[in-house]
Amino acid sequence: MTHVFHRHLRSTPPVADSAAGMRIRDADGRSYLDASGGAAVSALGHAHPDVLAAMHAQIDRLSYAHTGFFTTEVAEQLAHELMRSAPAGMSHAYFVSGGSEAVEAALKMARQYFVEIGQPQRTHFIARRQSYHGNTLGALAVGGNAWRRAPFAPLLVPATHVAPCYPYREQRADEAPAQYALRLAAELEAAILAQGADRVIAFVAETVGGATAGVLTPVADYFRAVRAVCDKYGVLLILDEVMCGMGRTGTLHASEQEGVVPDLLTIAKGLGGGYQPVGAVLAQGKIVDAMSQGSGFFQHGHTYLGHPVACAAALAVQKVIQRDELLPKVRADGEAFGAMLQQALGDHPRVGDIRGRGFFWGVELVADRGSKRPFPAALKLHAAIKKDAMARGLLCYPMGGTVNGVDGDHVLLAPPFIASRDDLQEITRLLSASIDAATRACDA
Ligand code: PLP
Repeated sequence: MTHVFHRHLRSTPPVADSAAGMRIRDADGRSYLDASGGAAVSALGHAHPDVLAAMHAQIDRLSYAHTGFFTTEVAEQLAHELMRSAPAGMSHAYFVSGGSEAVEAALKMARQYFVEIGQPQRTHFIARRQSYHGNTLGALAVGGNAWRRAPFAPLLVPATHVAPCYPYREQRADEAPAQYALRLAAELEAAILAQGADRVIAFVAETVGGATAGVLTPVADYFRAVRAVCDKYGVLLILDEVMCGMGRTGTLHASEQEGVVPDLLTIAKGLGGGYQPVGAVLAQGKIVDAMSQGSGFFQHGHTYLGHPVACAAALAVQKVIQRDELLPKVRADGEAFGAMLQQALGDHPRVGDIRGRGFFWGVELVADRGSKRPFPAALKLHAAIKKDAMARGLLCYPMGGTVNGVDGDHVLLAPPFIASRDDLQEITRLLSASIDAATRACDA
C-alpha cells in the first residue's frame, strides 16, 4: 500500500525508475518515449551530462544558503543571463521553485507596485477562461477553469474572466483575425470599465495557452490590442510563460512573436528543464524601482528562493540550449512536426483541430467535426488516450478542458528540444494509433 498522497487516490501510477535522453524507464523495465517532457518541462530530455555536471559541482561547492542572509554567484549569473535576453525594460529576476509560485509572486508584485505608487484602490485581476496559472490560491483565482476553482471559490482573490483567443471555437466565420483581436480587446476593455478603470491591477494571460485547451495560439495583433487596452487604463500586463516559454515555441519568450513586452513575465518548467524545481518572475524596471524607492522591500518570500543547485541547473540548461543552437532546431523541426501531425491526423474524423508552434502542439478531439461537439465528459476520452498511449510506450499529455461550459478533450505534445525527426515520426505514429483506438472505444 502506498503512503504517498497521490493526486488520484484510487490508483497508483507505475514507478519511474531511470531515464536518459528521450526515454523514461519504469521499475518493470518498460520504456516510454517522452513526447510531452512531463508537462512541457524536460527541454533537454533526461540525464543531460552537462546539466548533471553543473549540479554536482554546485552541490560540492554550496548546496544551500538562505536569501535572508546571502546571495550566491550562481543566482547572480542566472539573473544576468536571463536579463541579457529579457524583453525590453526588464531589470530583475525573482527566483522561486515553480510555476504556481512564480504566478503567485507576480500577482503580489503587481499589487504591491500599485500600493507603492499610491493606487491602493486597485484590487482586481482580469484573466481568461480556458487558462491555467497554477494551483495555489492566487494562481487558482486567475485560472480560467471554473471546475478547478469551484471548491475553493470562497477563498479566492477577486478576478474576472474574459474570453481567451481561441480561433477554432470562437472566431466568427465572417471575422478576419484582426477584427477578432479587436473584439477580444473590446471585451477586455468592457471588463476593466465594469470594475472601474482605476480598480484593476493586471490582465493575466498565457501567451500561448497550454494546459487547459490543448495549446491556444493567439491570432496576430491580439496581444498588441490587449496591451493597448492595458496601457490606456494603467493596467499591468502579466504574461504567464510557465509552459510556453523558455524556447518551447521556438523563441526564448513566446511574447517575442507577439510584438509585445509584458510588465511581468513568469517562467518555470523549461527554465530548469526538470532537473530542479525552479521558476522566476522577470520584472520591468519600473516595478522594481517603485519598490526600491518606496518601502525598499518586496513583501513576499520563500525558504528556497534562488536555491543554488536549482539556479545551477537552470543556468546549465540555458547554456546548452544556446550552445547547441536548439531554438533554430525547434523552429525548423517544429514545423516538420506540425506537418507530420497534420498528415497523420488532419483527416481523422474525431480530430477537430491541430495547432501549435515550435515544439508545442495540441490536438483537439471532437465527437463531430461539423458541429465541433466534444465527446461527453463522462467518457473521459483524454484519460483513455493517456492509458492507451502508455501501454504503447508513449508519454503524451492529454487533458479534459472546458469549452463554453462543456468539457472537451485535448492532447498536448511538448517533446524535449533534442528530439530527432525519427522521434517525432514515432511520436506521431504512436499517438495516431492511440487516438484511433480510444476514440473508437468511446464511439462504441
Ligand atoms: N502557469 C502555467 C501556464 C502552467 O502551465 C502551469 C503548470 O502547468 C503553472 C502556471 C503552474 O506551474 P507549477 O505546476 O510548476 O506550479
